[in-house]
Order: sequence, then structure tokens, then C-alpha cells
Amino acid sequence: MKTICIKVKLSPEQEREFSNATQELEWIWNFSLKTYIHNHCVKWYEWATGIKVKIDKALAEIEKLPPEQKEFVYNYFLNPSLRPSKMTQQQNKLVDKEVYKILTMWSPFDFDGITKVPLRLSERSAYIGASCAIAEGGPYWISEIIEEKDESGEVIKHRKWKLVNGKPYMPINKKEHSYPLVPSGQYKDREIIDWTDLVVKAVLTSVRESEGLSPLTLHSNYINGLVSQNGSFQKSWSAFLDVKRMQSKRPKFKNEEYKLNTLLNLYPPTISEDEDWIEVRQLGKLEVIDRNWRKRMGGDSPRSHCITKKKSGYYVNITTEHPLHSEKTVLLKQLAKIKKEQGKDSQEYLDLEATIASMTEKIRGSKVKPKNKELAVGIDPGINAIIATDQGDLYMPNLSRERITFHIEKLQAKLKHMQDVNDKVWRQENQRQLEDGEKLEIKTKRPKTNNELKLEHKIARLHERGASSSRHFNHKLSSRIARTYKHVCWEDTKIENLMKSPKAKPDLSGIGYLPNGAAAKRSLNWLFKQRCLGDLKERTKQKVLEYGGVWHDSAPKYSSQKCHCCGYTEPLQRDGSNFTCKNEACKMYGISQSADVNAARNHKKSVFELGEVKYHNLSLEYNVSARWKHRNRNKVKPVVSVTKLPTTSTPVPNKPK
Ligand SMILES: [Zn+2]
Repeated sequence: MKTICIKVKLSPEQEREFSNATQELEWIWNFSLKTYIHNHCVKWYEWATGIKVKIDKALAEIEKLPPEQKEFVYNYFLNPSLRPSKMTQQQNKLVDKEVYKILTMWSPFDFDGITKVPLRLSERSAYIGASCAIAEGGPYWISEIIEEKDESGEVIKHRKWKLVNGKPYMPINKKEHSYPLVPSGQYKDREIIDWTDLVVKAVLTSVRESEGLSPLTLHSNYINGLVSQNGSFQKSWSAFLDVKRMQSKRPKFKNEEYKLNTLLNLYPPTISEDEDWIEVRQLGKLEVIDRNWRKRMGGDSPRSHCITKKKSGYYVNITTEHPLHSEKTVLLKQLAKIKKEQGKDSQEYLDLEATIASMTEKIRGSKVKPKNKELAVGIDPGINAIIATDQGDLYMPNLSRERITFHIEKLQAKLKHMQDVNDKVWRQENQRQLEDGEKLEIKTKRPKTNNELKLEHKIARLHERGASSSRHFNHKLSSRIARTYKHVCWEDTKIENLMKSPKAKPDLSGIGYLPNGAAAKRSLNWLFKQRCLGDLKERTKQKVLEYGGVWHDSAPKYSSQKCHCCGYTEPLQRDGSNFTCKNEACKMYGISQSADVNAARNHKKSVFELGEVKYHNLSLEYNVSARWKHRNRNKVKPVVSVTKLPTTSTPVPNKPK
């Protein structure tokens, strides 16, 4: 599956239609979010009831056991402090039952006497963060620095916490609520629970009518694309509820700041055979202004598509799949049906399974180009070289992304200055009008000037350019790796951990903080952000697997301090971008190597242990900087001096461990 982005041109009429459609969609988004937040409490109590049923079932199961076993199992789950440190096989067998699993997560609880109050959602996952608040206000803690004079008369500063009076306690309205109802129309008084109700156009229209808005003109495919099971709204809400995805926050309401710019349709568009247009719902035929879009489509068939408005214009994104894919999905459904009706051993089931397997092979085969050699590579992602391979290739990072960021930062400073000056002028003007007694029109916000709008547009365009620059660069590099190598050993770094700011070091005297290297880390983090290493890793992994390769995660521990040749580990061996082995018995003793290449070799070594390969340790020195080489490639040929280093042997790639 891949996505193809095609630039299109909309007529003024189509642009108006597009903006109408997105406005209606924004209303649907906001209404859906409001409904979901409102319904969340009701659903939460339903969910908790379900949990309680499971717990009761487990407890009833325990009750059935003979007295001795009953006591043991009961203590095991409900009094973990009484749990024996070593358990016999029989005891293990006793507690290892599917029905008891719920007791490891939840203690028994009682619903009697609980008022079903509205829950508060945390900014992160709702199911974990949901809590019922009874009141607001009350005293709170603040910290302040107090100066005191000691015996010798010197001033000593202390940090002290003290309790201050806040607002008086205000009880929160504890009204129990239920699902909202459809106000009118054919579905009058139907409960609006989730997307299954929201996706019905008549329900939405009836709600709009009660709010005094015009009926929806939006095509139902786009409503589907937003609120159905695979719609963008439903997806972002499920991500918010998913306790495993802690980074996904609550979806935001759409307004001037957060606009909706996409019309998603889960069905394929109509594509002309030989003319340059794509026909989509409601907007009609869109003129394509893209030169090689047909070539990029290849032989794949379109699945879903969306129309997106960006600062640089309108785009149609089409997701495509191998033509056999839809056929395969149908067969998979049939397979499940046959399994249910005739069982796993029936001839029909086996036949169909074989057909599907051959289909999968065909789909896969269309991607994989046969490779002459099964090459393996160790890769160390980094800052100076975006990636270094074990064979000594150092790939230059995408420098244009950095240049764009510099440009953006410069323009943003300019914009900030412009806004400050205009704000001041605006305030003075208001003051003058007030003093002169002129009629003053009260506005809460200063309207933006033309120059500000222009600059904002320019910045937005640059952001777009930066994003596509990174995307294109990462696409090219990842394809190149995936096409060349069969086994890829990539350093398993957690990018989030690298990006974390260093822990604050409090000063022992109690005031302020000691330097912790945060300033130096900030510039490093800035570079990390420009490199988009996480994105590169994900793309490469996906492509390697798609092309039939094997992905290996290699542990990052000590990979930059260890010599690849002898395995001697010592932090002092690394000095900036150079690595020198300090083990006298090693063949590489005292020879300067590239630190990144050494790390890449360690990654390869950590996965492959069998067989031997010899690295040709050549040290190449160019008299022309590699970065500027392409500029005068016709004039000067770089003179390369080759120094041969002693050959080392390293275990390598026959079979993974
Ligand atoms: Zn060594």
C-alpha cells in the first residue's frame, strides 16, 4: 500500500464548494467531539459494570474450590503480601487460569450507593485519567524565596513552601446524565451514542435544524470519512482512549486556529483513462497539474482518497494497492465463514487457504526484485553523517532542511517584531481616540495587517517545503537501503530518550540550579529534530520488510565505546568523530577510525556471529571537500590518496544467531 500525492487545480467555483464542505465537516467534528465527551461518562460506567461482572465471575469461581485451595487463591490475588516467594507446580497451575486474569488488574469493587457523576477527562488517555471531582477551589501550595540574616549578618536565601487561601470550595454539579436524543425528524428520540448514530445524515440534519443551521449539503461519503469506523475522527478518539498510546492527546475542537483542511473519502475516485482529470464526489472533475502522476500510480489500483488544501494549493492523495488486494480481502472473509461452517479440516477450507497463500506470494513478488547476493549491513544513525554503514559509507544529511529552518526562524523573528510594533501603534491609536472622545469601536483583537498576513503565508509555505524536503530525502535513502540489503541491523535507539532534556541539578544550598549541560543539549536536540531519524528508521523498516528483507534491532549499549575488532570497551577511546583502540594486543591499536563506522560494525557484529568477513581498511582522503564536489565536478577531479590499514577480520553474515 502506498500513497500518491497529486497536485490539482480547482476552479473558483470548486474552491467555494470545498470551503463550504470543510465548514460543514468542522461542525460535524465539533458536534461529534461534544457528544463523545458527554457520552464518555455514561460509557465509562458501562465499561466499569462490565469489569465488575468479570470480577464477580472470577470470585464465584474461587468460591467453588475446596477450602484449602480457596484460601490460597484468595490470598494470592487479594493479599499479595501473603504470596509465597516460591510456588509449587500445582500452585502455579491453580492460579494460572484465564478467568482469574482480571483479578491481577482490578480489586473487587461495589457500585451500590455510587452516584454516577460526570467524569473529568485528563489530557491524556481518558480511561486511565477519568476521575470524578466533587468540588473545586480551596487552599493551595506555593513556593517562595525568603531572605534571612544569619549570625554574621550575611543574607541567606531559603526556598519555602506555604499554603495560601484559594477560592472557596464550590461543589461541582453532580447531575447524572444520559445519552442525548435526536430532537426531531424520522429518528426522533433515538439515543445518539457513537459513530453508528452520527454517521446517519438525517440525525445530523435534525440536530442542525434545532440549532437553527441550514441543512447539510455535504456528500455522505465525506461524513463517512470523518465519523465512520475508519474515519479520521473515530481514529483519533480511539487513540486517545488507548492506554498503550500515551502520547496521543484528546482531539481538539476545530476553530479559526485548528482548521479542517481535508475531505476524506474511503472509496476510490474516478480516474480518466487518457485525460488529465480526477473526478471526486461533490466537487466534480479536478484538473491535474502534475507531470508524471500516471507513472507514479503504476499498475496499482486506487483504494481511498482525500482532497487536501495546503498553502501551496490543492492536492489529491490516493492510497493504492496491488490489484489482487481487494480480491484477497473478499476471499479472507469467505475463509472465516467456511471455517465457522465446515471446520478447519474440510477440503474447501484447505483449497481456499492455498489460493490465498499463492495470492499473497504474487503480491509480494511484484515488489521484490531478486538480489544476486544476500548482503547484510550494520547501520549507525548519527548527527555528522545521517547514517554510517559498516563498510565505511558515510551518508551526508539533508542540509536543505536545515537551511529552511534557519530561514523560518529568521522570518519568525521578523514577524514577532512587526507584531510588537503594530500592537504598540494600535494601543496608542485607541488611547488617542479615547482621549479625543471619538466614537470607539471595541474589538478584542487587533486585525492583522497585510504585511503580517503576507509574512505568515510565507512562513507557512516554508514549513511545508521543509516537511516535504525531509520526506523526499528519507524516502530516497530508505528505498536505497531496502533495495540493496537483505539483512539490516539498525541501532535500536529510543529517539524520545535522546531528545529528553537533562535532569535539573538542584544547588545544595537550596537556591537555584547548577549547570547541567542543558544548553549544549539544546543545540544537539535542534539538530536531531532537523534530521528526522525516527521517520527514517520507520520508513526503512517498512520498506525492508516489504522487499522481503529481515530487520534486526541491535542494542545501542557501548556501541560507540567498543572496538569492533577486539571488543575492548573504554569510553576514552572515542574522541569526537575519531575512534582509536587502546588495547595493545589489537590489530587496530593506535589507528584512527571513524567512530560512526566503528559503531556500525559493532551493530552488525551484535547480530551476526557466524562466518568471517574481512574489512578492507582503507583510509581515503579527498583534497576536495565531498560536499562541494558536485559543483566543480567538470573542472577539478578530486585527488584521492589511499592509505592501506592493516586488515582485520570480523565475524559476519551467514546466518543470524
Ligand atoms: Zn581493538
